[in-house]
Amino acid sequence: MQVAVPMTDTGGKSTVLTWLSRMKDMVRPYGLSDVLPIPVDKLMVSEWVRLKCEYGCGKYATNWCCPPATPDPERVRRILKGYSSALLLIGRQEAPCFYRGDAKTRLMRIKYWKGTLSLERQLFLEGYYKAFALVGETCMLCKECSYPSGCKFPQERRPTVESFSIDILGTVEGLGIQPKIAKDLKEAYSYFSLILLQ
Ligand code: SF4
Repeated sequence: MQVAVPMTDTGGKSTVLTWLSRMKDMVRPYGLSDVLPIPVDKLMVSEWVRLKCEYGCGKYATNWCCPPATPDPERVRRILKGYSSALLLIGRQEAPCFYRGDAKTRLMRIKYWKGTLSLERQLFLEGYYKAFALVGETCMLCKECSYPSGCKFPQERRPTVESFSIDILGTVEGLGIQPKIAKDLKEAYSYFSLILLQ
């Protein structure tokens, strides 16, 4: 399930393939392995995702990129109506230190966060002026988020995919990708970000 997105596409399939190949080259240094253009109407917005943020996540009401600081599901649905296509960014890695929140985990997430924002910026410069990143997992740019005081890096502040009430696993399944849930810390896991494109 893919859509051709280059704005300057003159109709050639090769233009789309070249564009995608360049996108993939751009995201690799940030630990991302693939980029898929997808129609925005394939993004599944569900109230239960917000519920999981409110009940069970220690980041709730502690971070500017998480609820309740982020748009509620109704506003998300209105925002998505302004887009027709998005990019799904896919990464896969092993992270035995995932739950420790140590320096290594933080560095890994910062690299991933900055990579996604860097791609958003590049897309903006190429004419996709509506490009807007939704990054997977929580913002860890600061050792401790300043919430509810002002964000220290507002230019890099974006809602997380989950905080946008997007059922990301249901969405990727709907795209024909089978996300494997890591049942053990030693197992590699997949992570996903989105860039709302045009
Ligand atoms: S940049 Fe810092 S203050 Fe802003 S949301 Fe991220 S962690 Fe919080």
